[in-house]
Amino acid sequence: GPLLAIESSCDETAAAVIAADRSVLSSVVSSQAALHERFGGVVPEIASRAHVERILPVIREALAEANVTPTDLSAIAVVTHPGLVGSLLVGVTAAKTLAAVWDLPLIAVDHLRAHLYACRIAYGEEAFPACGLVVSGGHTNWYDCPDAVRATLIGSTIDDAAGEAFDKVARLLGLPYPGGPSVQQAAEHGDPTAVPLPRPMMNRPELAVSFSGLKTAVRYAALGNPNSPEVPAPPLGERRIADLAASFQAAAVDVLVGKCDLALKQTGRPTLLVGGGVAANRALRVGLTDLCERRGVRLCIAPMELCVDNAAMAGLAWESFERGEFAPLDCDVTPGLVRA
Ligand code: ATP
Ligand code: MG
Ligand code: FE
Repeated sequence: GPLLAIESSCDETAAAVIAADRSVLSSVVSSQAALHERFGGVVPEIASRAHVERILPVIREALAEANVTPTDLSAIAVVTHPGLVGSLLVGVTAAKTLAAVWDLPLIAVDHLRAHLYACRIAYGEEAFPACGLVVSGGHTNWYDCPDAVRATLIGSTIDDAAGEAFDKVARLLGLPYPGGPSVQQAAEHGDPTAVPLPRPMMNRPELAVSFSGLKTAVRYAALGNPNSPEVPAPPLGERRIADLAASFQAAAVDVLVGKCDLALKQTGRPTLLVGGGVAANRALRVGLTDLCERRGVRLCIAPMELCVDNAAMAGLAWESFERGEFAPLDCDVTPGLVRA
């Protein structure tokens, strides 16, 4: 039978039912965006409480939509790392309880690997071997993936994650949370060449990026530079906000695309996998499509519904199931990054 996957690492409460052939029988995502909006970011306490309220209804809905009962299931998969500890605990506790009550094996899933596995769910086994990019709210990581199971970290951001930069730029431009989609929307009406912004580390030969300097450059362009106050920033009207959003997005995309080029060169892999919330960004999708066409590489970018957090991507658990790798009922959550 299929497996039930549970994801609660940040502020999406999600459950999915995935068949052994990796087809997604159901995928339910309850976003808490509306709860965190007025705080401009995820409030951990609010997130864990909302997970507690939503987790069982979301699981029930996923089972109903897939038209399966607990006795049909082969296993329960749950994301145990990385993420907010209070959020992770809710999903993991639910998964352990259901595994015990329904007498099913438990499988622990790495959230970042799952972001990459979204590409396997969408494109099939031929997605590997590949070079992978996870570009999300907390991470900007490149991997070498010889197959669906192995992923070696080969590069990352040295400071902020790409999604974090979108979120911070949104906040300083007064755009609503979550920042990524609202920056993208504002950028549609702006000129990406209007504000000259740096492309930090882009032309350096190492596989690393930095978004903190770019974010500061946007801040100075938007609000003025305290180090040279004699050059006043233009007024922050709707037009200027659109230009800043478009210019920031263009710089971020340039850097990400440039480093994907380098990662492909370094790994020599025939395919580029891209997952994580920022992979939903339209300008990035266009930039990566151009790059892969230019290089004759196959682009397997997660479809929109598998970019931001969801449980279907935890179909990665089938790889563990097939290898007989199960988690004990007393397994723990690991909030930080677990290196491959
Ligand atoms: P991580 O996966 O690193 O643990 P997370 O799970 O919170 O972090 P995701 O849910 O994968 O992150 O992605 C959320 C991030 O994606 C947010 O930073 C959000 O602003 C960004 N994002 C979502 N849509 C877009 C978009 N269209 N353009 C740019 N960024 C986007
Ligand atoms: Mg989220
Ligand atoms: Fe994520």
